[in-house]
Amino acid sequence: MSDLLKRFASYYRPHRGLFALDFSSAVVAGLLELAFPVAVTLFIDRLLPTGQLDVIALAAAGLFLIYLFSAGLQVIVTYWGHMLGVRIEAEMRRKAFDHLQKLSFGYFDNQKTGHLVARLTKDLEEIGEVAHHGPEDLFIAIMTLIGAFILMLWVHVPLALITAVIVPLTAWVTTHYGARMTSTWHALYGRVADFNARIEENVGGIRVVQAFANEDHERKLFAESNKNYLTTKMQAYKVMAASASLSYLSMRFVQVVVMLAGAWFVVHGELSAGGFVGFLLLVNVFFRPIDKINSIIETYPKGIAGFTRYTQFLDTEPDIRDGADAKEVSRLNGDIEYRGVGFGYSADKAVFDGLDVSIKAGETIAFVGPSGAGKTTICSLLPRFYEITSGTIAIDGVDVRDMTLRSLRSNIGIVQQDVFLFAGTIRENIAYGRLDATEAEILDAAKRARLDDVIANLADGLDTIIGERGVKLSGGQKQRLAIARIFLKNPPILILDEATSALDTETERAIQQSLAELSAGRTTLVIAHRLATIANADRILVVDDGRIVESGNHAELIARKNGRYRNLQAAQTEGGSVHPFPV
Ligand code: ADP
Ligand code: MG
Repeated sequence: MSDLLKRFASYYRPHRGLFALDFSSAVVAGLLELAFPVAVTLFIDRLLPTGQLDVIALAAAGLFLIYLFSAGLQVIVTYWGHMLGVRIEAEMRRKAFDHLQKLSFGYFDNQKTGHLVARLTKDLEEIGEVAHHGPEDLFIAIMTLIGAFILMLWVHVPLALITAVIVPLTAWVTTHYGARMTSTWHALYGRVADFNARIEENVGGIRVVQAFANEDHERKLFAESNKNYLTTKMQAYKVMAASASLSYLSMRFVQVVVMLAGAWFVVHGELSAGGFVGFLLLVNVFFRPIDKINSIIETYPKGIAGFTRYTQFLDTEPDIRDGADAKEVSRLNGDIEYRGVGFGYSADKAVFDGLDVSIKAGETIAFVGPSGAGKTTICSLLPRFYEITSGTIAIDGVDVRDMTLRSLRSNIGIVQQDVFLFAGTIRENIAYGRLDATEAEILDAAKRARLDDVIANLADGLDTIIGERGVKLSGGQKQRLAIARIFLKNPPILILDEATSALDTETERAIQQSLAELSAGRTTLVIAHRLATIANADRILVVDDGRIVESGNHAELIARKNGRYRNLQAAQTEGGSVHPFPV
């Protein structure tokens, strides 16, 4: 806890000046609030009886000046105080996003997107609120409580003691309902998260929903979630109504009792009129921190929970990062060597155990084998998307772990089956391959990927918006865009992971040409299940259950009697539609 507090405080450090200004303004404003009832008492008891209207006028002018000053303080507290919270929030969010970029595939494999998003938005908003209001609210609440009570004692001791006896009633009512409000809001957040998730999933899967004509089913699921929300929210307002009216009533009750008792003291000549009025005002001042403390009780746990989750997130060590003496490599040749590589996605299940593969610069190597054999995994290890557990992977004789991730990955281009495109323009998506590319370079890359005809037919050309994940493009166009991106990146090593598997034969054939051009002069790792697309590879490796079971070029492997590859080839050419491997 104290560690957490220390960490929290560290975010104030860059804003020390702002914090001091905000805090002291809030304290001074709080003191002025306290002083007001005293001023009224003195005014009624001392100044009014003198009948000196000029002095009274002067006092009024003075009072106005004090109000003016107080208004200024409120601007500082409201504007600059929130500014402090917002700046801390923005800094935390920047840090969290920065950290997010460093986490590895393995981390994201195990996360829910919605939770990560909530961490960077809602959690941090709540922390921001606490960051601003937290310290000063607590301090001022305590200061006001103590200060008001001391002043009550100063005005009239017995009346102050009577108040002290009945005020806990109000405090109890407010606190009791405050706690109920907190738990109701909590439930409400859960409901909101529920239906947010519903909407997110529905929108994401709307094409599937409509294809299955399951709108009614979705409607029902949503209606339930929506009804739960409604019920909980109505419950919240019920508690809110009870809380507001009972708190109000209990405060007024205290006030009436004090009034009655005070009147008694006035009638018996033990309390002045000014003291009477001043005391009633003090009772009001005394109530305020009770309310404040309740809102603190509500916001603190949220802020602390949010901050705890935030620190836990920041403390997640990225499991793949640059080693202490990692070197920036420039353009590599592309000699690749896997030696005795062991790897598993989880500690208890190995995908490989002693995998050896060597690929010469400029060679095209094809991996074939059943689904789940480990082909994609072999390729994911090269750019260090996952960390191997034993053995080494080297490029040009340098262990990939001795290169900076950035320079290693800038040497590798990947085209996969499902292309991820960003919701933006074609230009932006191609330029993702090299952010500083010129217009001419982007057009050239588009041309080489044979995307130029597509672009020419679009009214907005390169500036055509392609929709979320590129929904406005066909499968072949998306794939061409992905290829253009790699032409622009121009890496010496290329990974084609079932790049054309999702396409129809005709489109596949057309794209094969672009891919052949792309792989010219680069070390290329191809994964494909249509044997026609890999027959030209320099070498074919048949992978099964994490092992290379056959290797050679097409002619060699086809000549091998009862060989795996030969059987596959036979199955594909005979049956046509028969898939050589169970997918
Ligand atoms: P292939 O590309 O040959 O179809 P993969 O390399 O994708 O096979 O998968 C090899 C094995 O690793 C499979 O058993 C698969 O279930 C598992 N696997 C693949 N990706 C992950 C992942 N992200 N997390 C956990 N297991 C995975
Ligand atoms: Mg695969």
